[in-house]
Amino acid sequence: MSPYGRKKSPRILIAGAGIGGLTTALSLHAAGLDDVLVVEACPNLRAVGAGINLQPAAVRELTELGLAQALDEVAVATSRLEYHHRYGGLIWSEPRGRGAGYNWPQYSVHRARLQELLLSAVRDRLGPEALVTGRRLLRYEQGRERGRNTVRAYGAEQSAPFSCDLLIGADGINSAVRATMYPHEGPPLGNGISMWRGVTEGRPFLDGRTMVIIGCNARVKAVVYPVSRAEDGGRCLLNWVVEARTDEGPDGAPEEEDLRGGADWDRAVPPQDVLEHVEGWRSDFLDLHDIVAGAPRIVRYPMIDRDPLPAWTDGRVVLLGDAAHPVYPTGSNGASQAIVDARVLAYELAHHGVDEALARYEATRRPQATRLLAAHRRLEPDPVLRQVEALAPNGFLDIRHVLPEDRLDGIKSCTRQVTGVDATALNARTSWSVPV
Ligand SMILES: Cc1cc2nc3c(=O)[nH]c(=O)nc-3n(C[C@H](O)[C@H](O)[C@H](O)COP(=O)(O)OP(=O)(O)OC[C@H]3O[C@@H](n4cnc5c(N)ncnc54)[C@H](O)[C@@H]3O)c2cc1C
Repeated sequence: MSPYGRKKSPRILIAGAGIGGLTTALSLHAAGLDDVLVVEACPNLRAVGAGINLQPAAVRELTELGLAQALDEVAVATSRLEYHHRYGGLIWSEPRGRGAGYNWPQYSVHRARLQELLLSAVRDRLGPEALVTGRRLLRYEQGRERGRNTVRAYGAEQSAPFSCDLLIGADGINSAVRATMYPHEGPPLGNGISMWRGVTEGRPFLDGRTMVIIGCNARVKAVVYPVSRAEDGGRCLLNWVVEARTDEGPDGAPEEEDLRGGADWDRAVPPQDVLEHVEGWRSDFLDLHDIVAGAPRIVRYPMIDRDPLPAWTDGRVVLLGDAAHPVYPTGSNGASQAIVDARVLAYELAHHGVDEALARYEATRRPQATRLLAAHRRLEPDPVLRQVEALAPNGFLDIRHVLPEDRLDGIKSCTRQVTGVDATALNARTSWSVPV
């Protein structure tokens, strides 16, 4: 009998009940590996955070986990992505999700709603005892017990360590599992850009399902999209982000404290801090000033990532999601990549012994994650906004007078590299579901 009151093998411990950790638990269970325990540092998973996007590749995985309907009930199927000048002109507009040829939609969703949905599926399918909250893991050690390779994961408390056959570090950008694997790595890396985020109740704009990026300035841009549907012409929740180069710190980098607290979604700031950056911006379909000023809570967060790792695996310990490959949130891709990691890892563990499964997981996912990280870095500052700013700082009547279509197409294809997978390839790929 395992210490978790279950019998089956392998015994798998997941550090972190974020989007990656919870999807991993569900994916392992769906693949027939259900001796799983998720250990989460937060005592109670409160509704913090703001909006995130799920790309079609991730929606496919959640659909194959049987969560399509539940997801559709809490999320908005994003119809288009549009770039607008800060004084109003449309730079470009393109379809997303099914409209772009994918067999699955792209969704915009409040992170807390998505986490609740995954949490409730974990409790229903694996049982409430599959999640322990209020236990922060600090480090791990590996050894052999009764002829088996074993991992011990230690928490802050005096209580006995967790013992398992496989530890999956899904504990986010400040991962303790990663810090044990790479003890000299240090804090995340900032690029001098601050992001202010909020969720404001307001009137839907355009078709009520469009994500807009507004700027035309290499230093400041705003992203706004709905994360709930407006029923009967009513109001909806609008997620917004304002990014500005603030270059804090002595050498243009964020303060040390910012980096250590980089994943702290609890630090609220006043709207004035944000409004000064978007002063004078105009739009005929939304009032950014009102949206920012109306947010009940605004959090400031430095734009940070980490350098790619040479390996995600150390014996019977493996990294996943932001713990393995945190990227700037500009490509709306962090949660999606964590979900895809989870599915690939479960698929490989169901088909191979642990060592081979980890090697195959890493071979599939690490090169792709490394490419994405580089693509995200290339996109800061945003190449579209940078070029339009240089050519038309005061706005334009028709974008074709500013940027010829072929140049715009070139920038579009570079931007698309961060949201990833080609529609035809995704639609044709065989499933990572495991028949059980
Ligand atoms: C509270 C919170 C709010 C967020 N809000 C947004 C948002 O609004 N928009 C956005 O784009 N991205 C947001 N993110 C980041 C986004 O969720 C991730 O980039 C993406 O979903 C990848 O998820 P992940 O599961 O790998 O990591 P995360 O989502 O960061 O999840 C990691 C989980 O591990 C837990 N944890 C951390 N350290 C330990 C430890 N030592 N032991 C045990 N558990 C640990 C954390 O509490 C968290 O639940 C947020 C992250 C967090 C933690």
